[in-house]
Amino acid sequence: MRVLLVEDERALAEIISDVLREERFDVDVAYDGTEGLEMALTENYDVIVLDRLLPGLDGLEVCRRLRYEQIETPVLILSALGDMPQRVEGLDVGADDYLGKPFAFEELLARIRALARRASHAVLPDMLEVGAIRLDQQRRSVTLAGRPVELSQREFALLEYLMRNAGQVLTRDQILEHVWGYDADPAGNAVDLYVHYLRRKLGHGHCPAPIETVRGIGYRMDG
Ligand code: CA
Repeated sequence: MRVLLVEDERALAEIISDVLREERFDVDVAYDGTEGLEMALTENYDVIVLDRLLPGLDGLEVCRRLRYEQIETPVLILSALGDMPQRVEGLDVGADDYLGKPFAFEELLARIRALARRASHAVLPDMLEVGAIRLDQQRRSVTLAGRPVELSQREFALLEYLMRNAGQVLTRDQILEHVWGYDADPAGNAVDLYVHYLRRKLGHGHCPAPIETVRGIGYRMDG
């Protein structure tokens, strides 16, 4: 899966592309609108992630020109200008999705996957399974031993991240960055609290939820 990322904030571009590469996307990065447009017109991408405020051409203009050139690659606009009228403006120039900054990587990834899926009409593996827990990414639903489990959006994102990395130790920082976003408060105990919620909802009978505490580091879901 090839992704073009157009983002002028270099530090952010680097973090986003690292996260995407971790998820096995092929990522090309452009640091201004002119370069981004050029790459989008000459290469084939599955998804384009476009910052809105860019030197050269701004994101809206890049998107408008792509559509004018009949490039139909799905475009997700990222922007600090995340209010409703601005989102509408973005969608009106032909973007497929609009995500306000700051955002959580897990949400960015979910949206990119959704766009890629719509574009390719391919059947991607949407079902994750660990023990008696099944998570359906497309329907956003979870069952435990066949019974539906109600999860909040944040709980769902956390569970999805743990399940996709089952068997691996994830540090609290990794979890925080993926599920809460790059500007989440690292001093808070959100991660521990939400793991506690998940354990409560996902244990059954005498079986505790398969989320292990790795002392001093973070958590691991049994793989
Ligand atoms: Ca920018």
